Amino acid sequence: MNQIFELFKTDMPKPKLLIIDDQPLVIRVLYELFKIDCEVFMSTSGEDALKKCQEIKPDLVLLDIVMPDMDGYEVCKRLKSNEDLSDIPVIFVTSSDDEDDEVKCFDAGAVDFIKKPVNAVITRSRVNTHLRLKRQSDLFKSMALFDGLTGIANRRHFESSIHLDWLQCAREQTPISLLLMDIDHFKQFNDYYGHQAGDQCLQKVAKSLSTVLGRPYDLVARYGGEEFAMILPKTNYEGAQYIAQNSIKTIQNLAVPHSKSSTGLVTFSIGIATTIPQYKTSPDTLIAEADKALYKAKENGRNQIMSVEFNCIS
Ligand code: GH3
Ligand code: MG
Ligand code: MG
Repeated sequence: MNQIFELFKTDMPKPKLLIIDDQPLVIRVLYELFKIDCEVFMSTSGEDALKKCQEIKPDLVLLDIVMPDMDGYEVCKRLKSNEDLSDIPVIFVTSSDDEDDEVKCFDAGAVDFIKKPVNAVITRSRVNTHLRLKRQSDLFKSMALFDGLTGIANRRHFESSIHLDWLQCAREQTPISLLLMDIDHFKQFNDYYGHQAGDQCLQKVAKSLSTVLGRPYDLVARYGGEEFAMILPKTNYEGAQYIAQNSIKTIQNLAVPHSKSSTGLVTFSIGIATTIPQYKTSPDTLIAEADKALYKAKENGRNQIMSVEFNCIS
């Protein structure tokens, strides 16, 4: 998957547009302009609009200024001060001609300003511009956290997750397990089948590893070139073994041929480390222990699991 081209794909879901105005007639006019290209949501009050923003996470908001219960400035300020909603672009749509009002819109955090009565061409082109910018910014955010080749979490995502999970498990005094997985003889696979086939293999492996994990807080990440990692919070030694065995089975079922491997198929080795984290310690020891276990699995002949459970000392 090349994420840059994602931006221009035509089969992407329609952008979500929320129109907020106390006058149903204005909503109707705007709805007619965007009903084909966008999934349109509507709201006639500030309170209801804020609730809808939480629920649907629109890609763009068209916002009236003068409304009876809560005015548009207030709605915009509340959106901008909410961490979950602050990156939703807001365009004010208003009948005011006053330059001070326009300044207030930008002060409240708006990205643009459209005058009523709305001109179809101007409104469409401004909305399109900001939807495009929003899509680009979403894409760049996801590129920062997800691996471009396989689409699963990248190393940076892994690092931040493991720190949070470590603290959470220390707080609850529950075990955390880490699996490091490394494809066996992958250099020879590339040399024999070519780099493109190597990339496809990595994509298949990542996809099937994702199906092994069932809990919402589990994470599978691309840790390095042909290395993957699974963080399993609240999972003990036996639980981690179970997931590792299922991972091995899933890769066996993929049955990717590897004529340079003794089994004739792509396999991998897994190192597991499990501990109950203590305060004032870092997950570095967990990573180091899983790495040592992985090294032993390689030394022992590959295509196998090695595990260690250790006491974390603060
Ligand atoms: P071992 O069984 O000891 O793990 O041997 P190995 O050949 O898998 O390990 P080694 O670390 O020697 O080589 C890793 C190889 O993985 C090097 C490179 O050819 C391949 N590789 C790493 N990243 C990528 C990638 O993004 N795409 C492709 N196609 N190959 C990659
Ligand atoms: Mg009004
Ligand atoms: Mg390898």
